[in-house]
Amino acid sequence: MSNKIIMLGTGNGATLELYNTCFVIQNEKGNFLVDTGGSIEIINRLNQANVDYNSIRHIFISHSHTDHVLGLFWLFKVLSQSIKREIIKDKIHIYCNDVVYETIKVVSAHILPSSLMDLIYSNTTFHILNDNDSYDINGVKYTFFDIKAKGTKQYGFECTLANKKFAFLGDETLNPSLYNKIRDYDYVMHEAFCLESEESIFHAYEKNHSTTKSVSEVMNKLNIKNIILYHTEESHGKNRQELYTQEASKYFNGKVFVPNDLDIINIV
Ligand SMILES: [Zn+2]
Repeated sequence: MSNKIIMLGTGNGATLELYNTCFVIQNEKGNFLVDTGGSIEIINRLNQANVDYNSIRHIFISHSHTDHVLGLFWLFKVLSQSIKREIIKDKIHIYCNDVVYETIKVVSAHILPSSLMDLIYSNTTFHILNDNDSYDINGVKYTFFDIKAKGTKQYGFECTLANKKFAFLGDETLNPSLYNKIRDYDYVMHEAFCLESEESIFHAYEKNHSTTKSVSEVMNKLNIKNIILYHTEESHGKNRQELYTQEASKYFNGKVFVPNDLDIINIV
């Protein structure tokens, strides 16, 4: 089975040119949306990536911060219309922790019409995640786990794609208590907020984020084969990919991916 990671956005929570970090894992069985970014731009990005939003049956929201959850409310607007017109007939599944679920319930009650949310609730199964819950999504077993974030409760997941051990670790520096969980993995998706030389400008550490150097050193120590870095600042424009890859490669022996928005990473 081919597995594509389609990066809809790769920026942090305050980027303007880059969309906030979110992506689709696509295989022959369907599309799995991971986070939604913070705005209506999610619809635009899905269109640009040729992912029909009406085809999405599985959505995971890692945590309740603006840049990960707010796009969902814009998706609700279009998905509710598709449910109403029976373009979508089968259930949509949303996977999230209890804090995210509460956020979705409370915020939607205030900002979306109840008739719209009635359509969403009637056609959606919310799976409230506990630590290490597993679900089959598009033929792949995903195990969701608490990343023990210092900020709000946040979940990541691990799975096997094309016989490769793969982990998504959300948008905080990996808690050392989880090092053994991902040791020797083939692919790890981890945030990199800024270059080490620009820590004094962007203050990654005080926001529970990493620099490219700090995450690369840890992933190297854990014998990870490929790292995918995202959730960055955007001051370097077109040079970002090169600069971040250069820095990461100094401290990490495996392959480094610093995707641009709408890039596709094939897991083979
Ligand atoms: Zn974020």
